[in-house]
Amino acid sequence: MLVLKFGGTSVGTPATIQSLIRILHDYRTQGKSFTVVFSAFSKVTDTLIELARQAEQGDAGWHHAFERLQTRHLEAIETLLKPDMPEYTAARHHISENFESLRNILHGISLLHEVSARSLDFVVSFGERNAAFIIAQAMSASGLATVFLDARTVIRTDAHFGSAKVDFEESNRRIQGFYKEHQNEIVVATGFIGSTAEGLTTTLGRGGSDYTAAIIGAALQAEAVEIWTDVDGVLTADPRKVKQAFTLPSMTYREAMEMSHFGAKVIYPPTIQPAYAKNIPLVIKNTFNPAFQ
Ligand code: ADP
Ligand code: ASP
Ligand code: MG
Repeated sequence: MLVLKFGGTSVGTPATIQSLIRILHDYRTQGKSFTVVFSAFSKVTDTLIELARQAEQGDAGWHHAFERLQTRHLEAIETLLKPDMPEYTAARHHISENFESLRNILHGISLLHEVSARSLDFVVSFGERNAAFIIAQAMSASGLATVFLDARTVIRTDAHFGSAKVDFEESNRRIQGFYKEHQNEIVVATGFIGSTAEGLTTTLGRGGSDYTAAIIGAALQAEAVEIWTDVDGVLTADPRKVKQAFTLPSMTYREAMEMSHFGAKVIYPPTIQPAYAKNIPLVIKNTFNPAFQ
């Protein structure tokens, strides 16, 4: 079993979603078994934080930003699915409900003029929940049997909102239980989010979908965790800043830990630990250049 995680830019537009679905079909043709973890559509987490801040400040502009965000998700459904498909109906229904509940929460924040770390985690959780649900429906319509996993039901954390600490014992037990029940489907999980024992929504820190993939990979003793992003692996420097940066073919867990701690955003630092503990390779892949090894 492989764990494949697709980050924000990989799920940024319906076109990039279609290309990642092709990658998944290629994997299936090659006989690989895998589960997938998705981030929110690109920039959606930032937008959700901004929405909450605007609502908190009583800036009515949040309504417009909210409508644009909803439209972006509904348009993704229109492009990826056809109205006569059951997946279309399921996606429309689920996403509309999510946006209705998000609207109510933002309204509440605007009335109170207050947003706590706890409410903010709940607000941002919609990013991953919407993206993973839509993509799961699109995968299913393309002929891949999928089951959606809201990771809040399996990843148990403490109540340190914004960057919660994972209870590995409980999370491993729950992850293993869920995957055991769904051996004949491709599990499509939300990155970034978890929940406390009381059922409160938490997040694992910005960039935390990488960590979700490693947590699931470690629980399942996966063959590898593949982080699909927009660069050809870990480079000597951030290619957005250093044009001459080149790919490092491989590195130790320790080197990866150091690079990520010193700011290589390509991998979220806590991701390394669960992979290292179970000796699971972490592979960085490029959704926009899948042939790159
Ligand atoms: P995703 O949305 O897929 O999680 P991120 O933006 O979090 O993607 O991480 C990928 C980005 O990390 C790249 O686009 C690149 O600009 C940046 N980056 C920073 N340092 C490095 C590095 N040493 N090697 C590769 N990418 C890096
Ligand atoms: N969507 C979250 C963020 O932007 C998590 C992630 O992308 O890994 O931080
Ligand atoms: Mg990232």
